[in-house]
Amino acid sequence: MLGLMQDWPLLIHRIIDHAAIQYGPQAVVSRSIEGPIHRTTYAAVRQRALAVAKRLDREGIRHGDRVATLAWNTWRHVEAWYGITGLGAVYHTVNPRLFPEQIVWIINHAEDRLMMVDLTFVPLLEKLAARLPTIERYIVLTDGSHMPATSLKNAVAYEDWLAEADDDFAWAEAEERTAAGLCYTSGTTGDPKGVLYSHRSNVLHAMQVCAKDSLAPGGVDSVLCVVPMFHANAWALAFALPMSGAKMVLPGGKLDGASVFDLIEAEGVTMSAGVPTVWLMLLDYMTSARLQPSTLKRVAVGGSACPRPMIERFERDFGIDVFHAWGMTETSPVGSVGTVKAHQRGLTGDALYDLKAKQGRAPFGVEMIITDDAGAHLPWDGKAFGRLKVRGPCIASAYYRDATDILDADGYFDTNDIATIDSDGTMHITDRSKDIIKSGGEWISSIEIENLALGHPGVAEAAVIGIAHEKWSERPLLIAVSKPGAGEDRADLLAFLDGKIATWWIPDDVQYVAEIPHTAAGKIDKRRLREMFSDYLLPKSAP
Ligand code: ADP
Repeated sequence: MLGLMQDWPLLIHRIIDHAAIQYGPQAVVSRSIEGPIHRTTYAAVRQRALAVAKRLDREGIRHGDRVATLAWNTWRHVEAWYGITGLGAVYHTVNPRLFPEQIVWIINHAEDRLMMVDLTFVPLLEKLAARLPTIERYIVLTDGSHMPATSLKNAVAYEDWLAEADDDFAWAEAEERTAAGLCYTSGTTGDPKGVLYSHRSNVLHAMQVCAKDSLAPGGVDSVLCVVPMFHANAWALAFALPMSGAKMVLPGGKLDGASVFDLIEAEGVTMSAGVPTVWLMLLDYMTSARLQPSTLKRVAVGGSACPRPMIERFERDFGIDVFHAWGMTETSPVGSVGTVKAHQRGLTGDALYDLKAKQGRAPFGVEMIITDDAGAHLPWDGKAFGRLKVRGPCIASAYYRDATDILDADGYFDTNDIATIDSDGTMHITDRSKDIIKSGGEWISSIEIENLALGHPGVAEAAVIGIAHEKWSERPLLIAVSKPGAGEDRADLLAFLDGKIATWWIPDDVQYVAEIPHTAAGKIDKRRLREMFSDYLLPKSAP
């Protein structure tokens, strides 16, 4: 027997419709690429998104066609997402920080028909355009007065293009599993892989993110979307904020400490979400300029492990609650969030920070297990570490135009992360499977050593990689960037780690470098580091 409730497909346009009805005047504030702060509202975003859909329709874009965006977080990018999906087409976010070769590869793989591009990236595309045969037209996300002279095919300023349509358009009604968004993983291993979100998965995921024990934006919040829309679906914020009525603050291309701080203060930002690198820049800026944010209360950190000293600095020095979110492009992306259970409420000091350093619990909609390499389940005792696998309605079942079977017999997707889970269900990422250091048949967590090293007052950034070793197979090498004026003291840094981890986890050596390379997603680029140290030999005294 079927239930007798209404069939209401979970389509993305319902989110912006809801926002326009319930929170129509709510502000959407952007740092524009042209420079000035731009202000609009959810009601206006909806109207312009309808016009985008109508104009795309006139352009000949059809259901299922891919429209690429190469753009920062601004109101125009948000309108474009709603317009594209509202027509039944698919937004394809291209990460501008990828290598040009990868950008060409993914656009050709996706067979994008149109490209919406920010002024910042016009010169980049001009160099690549000859190798992008599927792109019929470039729409530059600016107005006529800022439109550059460009060789891009059929180039037009977005505002001029949009002015050719009005908002008299009906959203496409589609089946809720219709494709809505396409985002490629950064391809740290092999070619990038396309993750194809559906309307249903994006709506469900945004609802998960709105839950109290998740990012939990609410109608009284002002949320700074630091996480870029071109990286892992912007952690659902472009959907979750209109869904919840929170004010949306978009930083454009300026993510340095001063610009982020100014926006937080000017717009009364209460919460934000982003990768640790951005928060480190903000912390350093606030510390050196002796500034205290007046409204910021909560910061979600994810994309890579948030070092515990950073969590402590935010909380102790600035009274800001920092919590972890873990996930990946394939998980929409939020797969776990670090919030407390009732019996953990009174935790303070080290006990609280120990908990906060973990990646948190799976929300409803994410089922999580850890297994050994043979696929046997491992216990949730907080000690056994194994391959982290997940399944749920917002987790990829396959890659776009790729026949590889990515699920196991029980429907779990192997995240390639190594983790522990404790009896409370709190998951702790130990490493990515390719970064974990295998020493004498045991595993050493590079992340844990990095986090500890960052607690040393002279260390600005730290990375640990495995170096081949005749006897132990691999041994850890600590690569560090020292803080300005702090000097380089290998022995002092190793002594600092002594007693904090098992003796056999202590790195065999420290190498100081001027800079640690980062990936397109702002994470430490361990592949590049391994290349840089491919000829390096461990000191003779190594165990
Ligand atoms: P890429 O695979 O290209 O780096 P993703 O952004 O999808 O792109 O990266 C997902 C990976 O980032 C996860 O598998 C995990 O290794 C790492 N990660 C994400 N969030 C966290 C976190 N909070 N703590 C530790 N690692 C994280």
